[in-house]
Amino acid sequence: MQPKEILKKYWAFDSFRPLQEEIIEAVLEGKDTLALLPTGGGKSLCFQVPTLCKEGICLVVSPLIALMKDQVKNLTNKGIRATAIYSGMHPKEIDRILDNCVHGKFDFLYLSPERLSTSIALERIKRMNVVLIAVDEAHCISQWGYDFRPAYLNIESIREVLPKTPVIALTATATKPVVADIQEKLSFRSTSKVFQKSYARDNLAYVVMHVEAKQQKMLDILQKVKGSAVVYVQNRRAARDSAWFLHHNGISADYYHAGRSGEIRAQVQDNWIENKVRVIVATNAFGMGIDKADVRCVIHLNLPDSLEAYFQEAGRAGRDGQKAYAVLLYNASDPLKLEELYQKTYPSLKEIKRTYQALGSYFQLAVGSGLGQTFDFNISDFVKTYQLEAYRAIQAVKILMKEQLIHLSESFFSPSSLQITASKETLYDYLLRNTKMETLLKVILRSYQGSFNHPVRIKEQQLANFLSIGKSDLVQMLSKLHRDQIIQYIPQKDSPQLSFLTERLPKDLIAIDQKRYLFLKKRHASRMRQSIAYAETIRCRSQLLLYYFDEKDAPRCGKCDVCQGRHDDFVRQEDFKKISKQIQQLLKKQPLGIHALVDSFPGSIQQKVIKIIQHLHDNNFILLNKDNDYLWKE
Ligand code: ADP
Ligand code: MG
Repeated sequence: MQPKEILKKYWAFDSFRPLQEEIIEAVLEGKDTLALLPTGGGKSLCFQVPTLCKEGICLVVSPLIALMKDQVKNLTNKGIRATAIYSGMHPKEIDRILDNCVHGKFDFLYLSPERLSTSIALERIKRMNVVLIAVDEAHCISQWGYDFRPAYLNIESIREVLPKTPVIALTATATKPVVADIQEKLSFRSTSKVFQKSYARDNLAYVVMHVEAKQQKMLDILQKVKGSAVVYVQNRRAARDSAWFLHHNGISADYYHAGRSGEIRAQVQDNWIENKVRVIVATNAFGMGIDKADVRCVIHLNLPDSLEAYFQEAGRAGRDGQKAYAVLLYNASDPLKLEELYQKTYPSLKEIKRTYQALGSYFQLAVGSGLGQTFDFNISDFVKTYQLEAYRAIQAVKILMKEQLIHLSESFFSPSSLQITASKETLYDYLLRNTKMETLLKVILRSYQGSFNHPVRIKEQQLANFLSIGKSDLVQMLSKLHRDQIIQYIPQKDSPQLSFLTERLPKDLIAIDQKRYLFLKKRHASRMRQSIAYAETIRCRSQLLLYYFDEKDAPRCGKCDVCQGRHDDFVRQEDFKKISKQIQQLLKKQPLGIHALVDSFPGSIQQKVIKIIQHLHDNNFILLNKDNDYLWKE
């Protein structure tokens, strides 16, 4: 069948979107192809349609299990034969699926990059009739990309096994070095083709507002701009709080973050997609693969740490081509917060090595042993034993994972949680009837304040120790409370597993690629600066973003706050530092009233000084005494 017929038959679409047809044609000609289309541009069709034109299977490499499942579901609903294998599946199940693929029972096999290089997979892939290899979110292959996944480098090994099969790589966000890297790392042949659609979003107005009271501003905006919206916040708590704040102010809102159960997340997302809930407040865990056309507004309450991330998140507004807004709420704390996080995210090489050695000792591995061994991993016990700081230790562990020295199972990142779902009255009533549960429930109420309002993380082992009962008894009790609808208990999927991917290395041979680590660190810093520059620029915001993605001669958009001449006069980072230092010196000598304080500065910058005083006050750096004079807080 022809591409157009396939499009009509399975998707019921009449025409292709820009570049889709050209890309499909190149794939059908057997060329290696790189498709750079914006999010929502319709990249999936670019490998799905040509596969269905042919007889055989397409291998799709995809970075997220959720994305794979979603696509497999969508295809299956259309009567297309698709399946997926990923870590966490039973080896027998994987075997069965691979066999079915060999026997031609599927048109699409989705797999995580980690699965690819296993010999079980490669052996079978050799015997499949593979017509196309599709690499989705291909920027993950490049360390210049914003989400580097070393396992993506394994993809080359299928190219070796299937030298004749063409490759299509797809991504929405790739700067020039990433584009080059993708082609190189996937061994693109000389006949390869690159298709790129401009990143310009004509219907999207970028706006940056300098505000202290961000929540209030968010509310104002959502009262003015009608329709579906996303609010991005920095952490889980902020997601919950902001959703509540909107809810209390009469705006339909819910929240989404990785700490909520998969079931609830799916529900929240569906409600929002079906417009049963108007605003979804989310951490950056939300959005990949989301496809909602009528989002009118994406608000960021914090500055993301890269423009790639900002562009992708903000770009979820206005996919239907109707007018939409991407608003960033910004103030002087944003760069400081980014800086703090940056410092924490990059422990020193010494710390990383120390963590690695501690892991070796913790699991009692002699140097030279441990290859392929897997252990239950209790992080709190580990950090306690070696007196490490938990957050930094986790960062170090993540880096060791990136270096492929160890692997930590996904469940590590989603601990158990519970929430009391019964009302106070029901709970009381229940306690009268189930006296055995009394101690447990009282301890829960005492130790996890807030568990009435939202899910709290729990550690079963700690709780069991505290109650002097066995862990399995505790789990049984919690499960009963769950069944009796007193609490919602979401156990961790399984206990976190830590595996050694190499034998334990001696101290001086721990192979942290220093160059790469420092490179990543530097790159992070430079991205952070570019992000800040976006917030503080007085250039057309669309132009600045496009410039960042190597579109050097984009015209002014005419719609952003700068083009409209409505941008706030930002207090730049350097000014902020300088002026707040001066304020500190003045106030350390003596308390001063607002007028005296402002008048200590030249008239030309007094406006700025007022903003900074306001900021320092809001953030508790300075206080007012009873005479209404400012004091510097020590
Ligand atoms: P991407 O991966 O580029 O972000 P998707 O492949 O998920 O985008 O497609 C986004 C949405 O656009 C999907 O709902 C898809 O069905 C739709 N779409 C893709 N191509 C077309 C087309 N030619 N006509 C209409 N809708 C399309
Ligand atoms: Mg996609």
